[in-house]
Amino acid sequence: MRLGALEAGGTKMVCAIGDETGTIYEQVSIPTTTPEETVPKLIEYFQDKEIAALGIATFGPVDVNPASPSYGRILDTPKLPWRQYPLLDTLKAALHIPMKLDTDVNGSCLGEMTYGSAKGLDSVMYITIGTGVGVGIAIGGRLVHGMLHPEAGHILITPAAGDENRCICPYHTSCLEGLAAGPSIEKRWGAKAVDLVDKAEVWELESEYLAQAIMDFILTVSPQRIILGGGVMHQMQLFPLIRRKVSEKINGYIRTPELADMDSYIVPASLNDDQGILGCIRLAELSLQE
Ligand code: ADP
Ligand code: ZN
Repeated sequence: MRLGALEAGGTKMVCAIGDETGTIYEQVSIPTTTPEETVPKLIEYFQDKEIAALGIATFGPVDVNPASPSYGRILDTPKLPWRQYPLLDTLKAALHIPMKLDTDVNGSCLGEMTYGSAKGLDSVMYITIGTGVGVGIAIGGRLVHGMLHPEAGHILITPAAGDENRCICPYHTSCLEGLAAGPSIEKRWGAKAVDLVDKAEVWELESEYLAQAIMDFILTVSPQRIILGGGVMHQMQLFPLIRRKVSEKINGYIRTPELADMDSYIVPASLNDDQGILGCIRLAELSLQE
């Protein structure tokens, strides 16, 4: 069955056609500028593709409650032209097929649970560390929405000695995104993260902040596995550092088979950066079952 996938990001819109086995037939990328310019191109791409349904994973904040009158509307995003833009309704009015929408990180979480390294698990966290930090959460097989949707990239972090005034988040004085996302690394060290590979202190500090957050996530959500994706996590040397620091912070307080096998518990994204698109394919399939 042909299914459409739209991963709506702040810099680009990835559009793809695939099927429920997780095969992707084709994929294009369209720059994200304004809704007036970008959305007609999305519609043009999907309209003659003979897809049965469309799954959408989008930047936020966004209304993800299917029962809400503004389901699929972008809310008060810093990307000003997209504020209050009815993304889902506009696509539905043009394409007339079933659709299901969630956050970008919930989409990636779902992709990993359906086709990737979290297959068979029902309580999973997906954390992306890139331009920002985002967290997708599934508990008992359901993507968590709650009041709005999790925004766990902005949880408060204790800064390391000497790193007290480094948070670049405009909203918070000491949050994970403001201290650990790619732009924060670049500002603190004066070089792009990818050019800091040989500086051990960069990854020591980065892994400390991520481990603080992950410790809190483990104790709050009790996920069966944690998947780390996004550009910054291409630095594979972070994984052993994070695993060790998480174990040290938990300090034996809880003991589970999962925590005893950290190499299988905290893992990289497994789908070649297609986890978001594949999550959209699954959302499309789910929209047909509703
Ligand atoms: P986005 O979050 O915008 O979807 P990415 O996940 O690619 O995109 O994140 C981009 C950020 O990740 C940038 O700040 C960039 O410096 C950083 N980044 C990208 N590739 C790497 C890499 N190989 N190593 C370290 N940092 C990287
Ligand atoms: Zn913040």
